[in-house]
Amino acid sequence: MRQSQLFTKTRKLAPKDEVAKNAQLLIRGGFIHKEMAGVYDLLPLGMRVAENIKRIVREEMNAIGGQEIIMSSLQRKELWEKTDRWDDEKVDVWFKSELKSGGEVGFGWSHEEPITDMMKNYVDSYRDLPKYTYQFQTKLRNELRSKSGIMRGREFVMKDMYSYSIDEKAHKEFYDKVTAAYLKVFERVGLGDRTFLTFASGGAFTQFSHEFQTLCETGEDTVYLNRDKKIAINKEVLTDEVLTQLKLKRDDLEEVTAAEVGNIFSFGDVKSKELDLYYKDEKGKKKPVILGSYGLGITRLMGVLVEVFADDKGIVWPEEVSPYKVHLISISGGNSDVVAEADHVYKLLAEHGIEALYDDRDVRAGEKFADADLIGISKRLVMSEKTLSEGGVELIHRKDGTTAMVPEIAIIERLTEKK
Ligand code: ATP
Ligand code: MG
Repeated sequence: MRQSQLFTKTRKLAPKDEVAKNAQLLIRGGFIHKEMAGVYDLLPLGMRVAENIKRIVREEMNAIGGQEIIMSSLQRKELWEKTDRWDDEKVDVWFKSELKSGGEVGFGWSHEEPITDMMKNYVDSYRDLPKYTYQFQTKLRNELRSKSGIMRGREFVMKDMYSYSIDEKAHKEFYDKVTAAYLKVFERVGLGDRTFLTFASGGAFTQFSHEFQTLCETGEDTVYLNRDKKIAINKEVLTDEVLTQLKLKRDDLEEVTAAEVGNIFSFGDVKSKELDLYYKDEKGKKKPVILGSYGLGITRLMGVLVEVFADDKGIVWPEEVSPYKVHLISISGGNSDVVAEADHVYKLLAEHGIEALYDDRDVRAGEKFADADLIGISKRLVMSEKTLSEGGVELIHRKDGTTAMVPEIAIIERLTEKK
């Protein structure tokens, strides 16, 4: 992508009413556009980051047998009444509307009810189970507060997976697989060493639900962390009884501020009974299907990555989610040889399938560097009269600023090598 063609522009200042660091930097870098409090558009650069996160999550969900779908945002009132979750007293984030033809509809803030109802069409016998489905879907929630940028949207992208199993044992086995898959996702996006499996409340037939909490100063949660065991306890379940049960001592727990990036829990047979999702076992006996629900906040994760890794110059994307693999910057000072050489390297990268953002704009070097710092692509290649005379390019890592001269013939190798 030639930067001169990108329709977005960087800006020096974020909107005055935007208080969250993640949104300030993402708006300034041209990743998102703010529609209103808690509502943001994803622009080309932001889309690319979100897609990279989704790709990683998709790979891990497919690896454990997930089948991808997309469910509708409009939902039937009747279904949620059956489970007693239509009432605003029970669920306080509903957006609702009315059909012109009559009747109320809800905007999906979650999908357990519609998907469980849908599965009735496809589940008859034990032979039809287990089934695992997931989606990347835009959730709508009428959140009271929205001061955390894309970490708390009123419209946001979530990956939600649902599992349908024949019994508690089969359910538990899959639940453990999802736990491992989630930890892999957080590892791959660069948050492995600061994301912890956290015991929280919720879930039917299980004492706990499990959250994935990432250490983040601007997170909205307080959790109690045991670093050695790599587990944490949410405030709401921190009791002497639970501590004993988990073989933890209060003194070994550190109070930390974190952001909930994922939450998985078991619904047992509760929802299946409410919504009438049964199967026939080997003996023809009717049994309720066991349901698990697994959420992961795609756009929240993107916000957390900005919060955690940004420095005073701008965003610092981890390699796996960086919007482009490299930021190619030509500092020509009017020298057409430099331009020709940069064009040549841009072509070379494309030929090797390396996606680059190419800053071919006719602007000062200082502006190019400041923008590159703000946008935060993990690797930068700089070409100038100086590098031309040395027969190579300058490779700079955004993370730590380390710099190396790379001869032109070695560029591809250097960019594709594993660190
Ligand atoms: P929170 O406690 O932060 O309000 P929640 O427990 O209501 O979140 P879940 O229903 O568990 O959220 O949703 C699954 C995941 O979706 C969360 O772990 C989080 O990563 C993400 N998420 C939830 N609400 C939002 C939001 N308003 N904006 C962005 N991401 C969200
Ligand atoms: Mg939650």
